[in-house]
Parts: sequence; C-alpha cells; structure tokens
Amino acid sequence: MSNAPELSLVVPCYNEEANLRALYQAIHAALEPLGIDYELVVTDDASRDGSWAVLKELAAADPRVRAQRLARNCGESAASWAGMQAARGRSIATLDADLQNDPAELPKFLAALDRYDCVCGTRVAGRGQGDNVVRVLSSRIANWVRNRLSGEQIADAGCTYRVFRRECIANLKFFKGMHRFLPTLFKIEGFTVTEIPVNNHPRFAGSSHYGVWNRLFASFYDLLAVRWMKKRMFRYEVAERVGG
Ligand code: UDP
Ligand code: MG
Repeated sequence: MSNAPELSLVVPCYNEEANLRALYQAIHAALEPLGIDYELVVTDDASRDGSWAVLKELAAADPRVRAQRLARNCGESAASWAGMQAARGRSIATLDADLQNDPAELPKFLAALDRYDCVCGTRVAGRGQGDNVVRVLSSRIANWVRNRLSGEQIADAGCTYRVFRRECIANLKFFKGMHRFLPTLFKIEGFTVTEIPVNNHPRFAGSSHYGVWNRLFASFYDLLAVRWMKKRMFRYEVAERVGG
C-alpha cells in the first residue's frame, strides 16, 4: 500500500462524547515527538450521545482523523473489528476511548514491536485505582478461566490495549467477543506475542458498558470455540517437492 501510515490507532466508541477530544490530544501528544506518521480510526458504535458530532468536527480539523458510524450498536468487538478493517497503517494499535489506556505508553509498545508481531498491555499498576474491586475481581476470574480452558498464559486478555502488525489480522475470522481472544488467535496463526505492563487509569468521563454478568459469563461460549479451534488446528511442514 502506498502512503500507508506507519500506525493506525483503532478505537471503538459508544457514548464517549466527553472523552474523544482528550483522547485525540493525548494521542497527538504521545506520537508527535516520535515523528510517527499515524491515523486515528474511530468507529462510533451507534452512540446515542454527541460522539458522532465530535468525531465529524475532529475529522474536519485534522486529516489524520477518520471516523465511521455503525448503523446500529453492535458491541465492542464488532466496532473494533470494523476499525481494524478500515485501518490503513502498517501496524495497528487498539485502545479504548475512555483514556483508561494511556496513549503516553504507546512508545513503549512500539519499541517492543521490533521483536514481536503483537504487544499486549497487561494492567498491573493502578488496577485498583482505575476499576473498583468487583470489576478487578471479575476480570481476574475471567482471565483465569480463559487461560485454563484455552491452554493460554495471557495474564490480562481482557485488556484490549495492544499494538500489532497488520498481517496478524489478515486471515482471522471475526466473531462476537473476539477482542478478548486476539492474542490467542494470533498465536494460532503463528505470530509471536508478548505482554508489557501498563497503567490502568480511571475512566476520564462517562460510564462503563460492562457489568459482572457480561464480563464473566458472556464470553464463556466464545471461550469454548477458541479452545476447540486451538486444539483442532493442524500444522504441517512440506518436507520436499517435485514438479511444477
Ligand atoms: N464500546 C463499544 N460498543 C459497545 C460497548 C463499548 O464500542 O457496545 C467501546 C467503548 O466506547 C470503549 C470500549 O468499547 O471505548 C471499552 O468499553 P468500556 O470502557 O465500557 O469497557 P471497560 O473498560 O469497562 O471494560
Ligand atoms: Mg473502559
């Protein structure tokens, strides 16, 4: 692809009107000093607040901002996936719109991307400040169950702050809830994945879209599919070839 930016920042957005300007500024502040050519791709998941108006304003003022609005609310995975499909960058960073993921940490991800195909954030510092006890606990349990059942060792698969090469998503099939399994799906495809510690800030504004129920239990069904997929994938190597 010619003129492809180095990095696409892919952000799913549902009712994040009060966060988008701050997010845009924080991304700019983090990447400008590195001289990186980037684009910000925001997918408005049919927000009911003024998110779309803010996005139109940001896109009109800065050509690096691209936004699309889904016809109806489809959930975080779908919005994130739609953004990845629209992304033109050679690498893709996924992060939330609410500034819980701090764009100031992007350089750290990019540095690790030299050695790995995908770098995942693991929320360590400030976990208790950014989220209340019930949220932290339900996320811990979800991570533990996920790892046990999928034979995985991702400390914090619920953290969707990640940076990866665009090749990682080229052959993926999309499904609801997939944002929680991307590192495992990448590994199945043979890509290398590492984790780095990240901060977890409180939401800048607005409120969370998840409760204990949809965080803990809704992904169980998806987990079984990923477990199956991991077990049933075959790998082979061609040893020799003759003829055309
Ligand atoms: N989100 C979305 N569609 C939805 C629900 C959430 O695009 O139906 C976005 C949301 O705007 C945010 C990200 O997904 O950018 C994560 O959501 P949230 O911050 O509520 O999750 P939490 O941090 O509480 O796990
Ligand atoms: Mg959040």
